[in-house]
Amino acid sequence: MKKDIRRAIIAGNWKMNKTRPEAKELIEAMKPLVKDAGCEVVICVPYTNLETAVELTKGTNIRVGAENCHFAKSGAYTGEISADMLTEIGVEYVVLGHSERRQYFGETDETVNKRTKAALEAGLKPIVCVGELLWERECGITEEVIARQIKLDFFGVTADELKNCVIAYEPVWAIGTGKTATADQAEEVCGFIRGVLSKLYGKDVADTITIQYGGSMNAGNASELLSKENVDGGLIGGASLKANDFAIIVDAATKG
Ligand code: PEP
Repeated sequence: MKKDIRRAIIAGNWKMNKTRPEAKELIEAMKPLVKDAGCEVVICVPYTNLETAVELTKGTNIRVGAENCHFAKSGAYTGEISADMLTEIGVEYVVLGHSERRQYFGETDETVNKRTKAALEAGLKPIVCVGELLWERECGITEEVIARQIKLDFFGVTADELKNCVIAYEPVWAIGTGKTATADQAEEVCGFIRGVLSKLYGKDVADTITIQYGGSMNAGNASELLSKENVDGGLIGGASLKANDFAIIVDAATKG
């Protein structure tokens, strides 16, 4: 089983939620619940909560991530945050190419690629999101869409760099909708992604890359999704805002 050689990662994506006091409360509630996790536990939080999250998780098994970063090192990019600014305060992961960024903020595979390279250069671990729209699935072009995203988003990323990347397969129709892909659908596309990586980087590298599923994963469906051979973890939106639910998903990943 190749699954054993990969790092299972459960990452919460808080999106635009939680004031600082609320973030403190959630992190404090989460800490004891996930302290014995057998997988990597990450919380990706809004910029305003990053320092709080880094401070409160020091000495724990919880890692902190941001929800985006810019590709330039510095400069006239009002409202943006660079990768160096994140590493400097102790952030380790960054979500890139989330479908909400692609949908609402004009993110393209080209900018995702630039952000991925900038993040890697700064020493961050990018969680790069790919996924098809509902009509793309209905038209039967899911694999075509996913292969294109993987090729473009990782263009110019070396095999050594890829080892610091995580891929999140997030069917857009399943994000925040309560509609989860079935475990078989998730496995099918995560396995397909591994096949694309294998062609680009070789099987040995592809077998080591963590591929998460994201899209309405919750305390009730996590076990089945995470039991699949090519589903190595989850990117969790709504359910990551509830300490108990998040901890149940972490437990499910621990059991694999
Ligand atoms: C996400 O934001 O990446 C996500 C998967 O959200 P949700 O779990 O709420 O569908």
